[in-house]
Amino acid sequence: MSRTAINILWFKRDLRLEDHAALRAAVGQGLPILAIYLKEPTQWQQPQHTPRQWQFVWDSIEALNNALGKTAIHAIEAEAIDFFTAAHSAFDIKGIYSHEEIGIQWTFDRDKALKKWFREQRITWHEYPTFGIARGLKNRQHWLKNWYTEIHAPITPTPVTAFKDLTLACPFPHWSAKASELPTNYFQRGGIHRGHKVLQSFLEERITQYARSISKPRESRRGCSRISPHLAWGTISVRQVFQHSRDFNVPGSKRNLKAFQDRLRWQSHFMQKFESEVAYEHIPINRAFIPVDASKKMDPVAFEAWKEGYTGVPLVDACMRCLKHTGYLNFRMRAMVVSFYSQYLWLPFKPGADYLAGCFTDFEPGIHYPQFQMQSGYTGVNTIRIYNPIKQSQDHDPRGIFIKEWIPELIDIPEEFIHEPWNIPPMQWAMEGWQTGKYPREPIVDLQKARKHASDVLYATKKSKNSRIESVRILERHTNPGRREV
Ligand SMILES: Cc1cc2nc3c(=O)[nH]c(=O)nc-3n(C[C@H](O)[C@H](O)[C@H](O)COP(=O)(O)OP(=O)(O)OC[C@H]3O[C@@H](n4cnc5c(N)ncnc54)[C@H](O)[C@@H]3O)c2cc1C
Repeated sequence: MSRTAINILWFKRDLRLEDHAALRAAVGQGLPILAIYLKEPTQWQQPQHTPRQWQFVWDSIEALNNALGKTAIHAIEAEAIDFFTAAHSAFDIKGIYSHEEIGIQWTFDRDKALKKWFREQRITWHEYPTFGIARGLKNRQHWLKNWYTEIHAPITPTPVTAFKDLTLACPFPHWSAKASELPTNYFQRGGIHRGHKVLQSFLEERITQYARSISKPRESRRGCSRISPHLAWGTISVRQVFQHSRDFNVPGSKRNLKAFQDRLRWQSHFMQKFESEVAYEHIPINRAFIPVDASKKMDPVAFEAWKEGYTGVPLVDACMRCLKHTGYLNFRMRAMVVSFYSQYLWLPFKPGADYLAGCFTDFEPGIHYPQFQMQSGYTGVNTIRIYNPIKQSQDHDPRGIFIKEWIPELIDIPEEFIHEPWNIPPMQWAMEGWQTGKYPREPIVDLQKARKHASDVLYATKKSKNSRIESVRILERHTNPGRREV
């Protein structure tokens, strides 16, 4: 019996209908389409991937099917190679359509193996660039100009009805929600409708608070756009977000709008770095820092204290607990908890980076790993920043409201001591009868000594000949000529 000729549309981090080049191209072929999302067991066992992210993905698939009025996109739990082998024997696959994935090493290796298998089976895999990211780029000569051209280019409408009509029922078993795989805590939820709503409410109203709240752990939760998980999992494209913001009559000063649009460009800028050098996931990008990272010893007790919010430094702990429970932190607090992990606790970068990745609902490998390295002081081309967690606390949570929200053990501590409770005289502890339970009375590390040690090692390494040679290479490869963004 002859097999039905079909195309396969493989959704990855592009869970939307609009501004979707792979979808448009597949529809253009006019053949029946099997539209899938693969929940690959091995991928979801990687430390970076967690149920909070899967919930976002699952919500997004459901939202697409709701928008289409039928189960057009099938979530299938299978390793990619197993799925495509089964599909190949059931159908005459004319082509696979997808976006290029800017993923972790695991997805990169999976794609390489699949490419080889598709070639052997004479199946063509049509891959379309993820917005703003070029594959195989050797330098940034024309990158920025191309980015601006593309970001302003009109978005071709998607033939949604034709897509819906072409989609096939799926003969393979679907993923079925298992209670253990969906978290019960509150995390940002996925779906195209939610992405558009979040953006709309930001542009209509919340953007007026943007610059004022961006550094503050509490206020940023409302004052920042909160579009990050939608961009990370592709329920809305960077171009859609940029063009909405460009065409919207944004209230208040234009400064907020510009700051927001700059960050959309940074999103692509960081992802391009990662696409060009996936080593960011594994080793210090400036190779001069490899021995520094290798000299760090994993201290499981300190690692656990950092993860669970028991380091004894209130703002760091509040941030880590908040992140664990909500999947979100603003930029400055992400940078601070990384600085604390890498510079004060002096722990090796990979376990910390992977753990944090799993905490973020918006985990975007292309931003996450380069940022983690930058905040650890490993790039050689950026200013080394060793965040003072006490100063951050005084500046951005002066009354300790965020701290007390996340560390109930400190609820009774007066404002003047909330940033450094270890300064409370023992007599006062005794007289007031304050109880802090298991929460440490002192930081688990001597902050001043740790800071000095990190500063000495990082600056000396940055000045070394090897670091300077590496810096030239990094600048040539990863920076846009004429701009200071590195
Ligand atoms: C160690 C570390 C790890 C990070 N990991 C991630 C990650 O996995 N996923 C992620 O989306 N962001 C990451 N960021 C960047 C940034 O913290 C988040 O993008 C931002 O906090 C998301 O909130 P928002 O959408 O409200 O941001 P907004 O301030 O409203 O910004 C809008 C969008 O611009 C992009 N953006 C904002 N800041 C940056 C930045 N500094 N660099 C690159 N792009 C930026 C994001 O896509 C963001 O959604 C990381 C930052 C650090 C320091």
